[in-house]
Amino acid sequence: SHHNQHHHNHHNHHQLTIFDKIINKEIPAQIVYEDDKCLAFKDVSPQAPVHILLIPKVKDGLTQLQKAEERHKDILGHLMLKVADIAHQNNLKEGYRVVINDGKLGCQSVYHLHLHILGGTQMGWPPG
Ligand code: ADP
Repeated sequence: SHHNQHHHNHHNHHQLTIFDKIINKEIPAQIVYEDDKCLAFKDVSPQAPVHILLIPKVKDGLTQLQKAEERHKDILGHLMLKVADIAHQNNLKEGYRVVINDGKLGCQSVYHLHLHILGGTQMGWPPG
């Protein structure tokens, strides 16, 4: 079913995703950080004791990291700089994992750029 979901979403790169509904507060999410440019909330299907998603509020074509262009530099920098604050606020003081899944082979399922912040346990490597 995971593979079907990925395939389905390939047709929806320019459309709204579930994350727009979270941004617009149309569906609930456990928000842990918010400012004018970005939103961080708990992943509904956590893959670690702490699993937070950090997203830009305005997608502006950033369906996935490989679509990034010069105009996205500010938001990309903003997201990267907020990771440590969010991690520390969630008690990930001894380290954590930051992941961006990109495209089908990267196991991306939601086509609105998002950083996974994972921690609260010893993470493994390689991720597989
Ligand atoms: P994958 O689903 O393979 O992890 P992504 O990198 O696209 O691919 O991650 C999308 C993430 O969004 C998943 O971890 C999923 O659990 C999460 N998610 C989907 N819907 C919601 C939701 N309504 N609230 C919070 N997280 C969600």
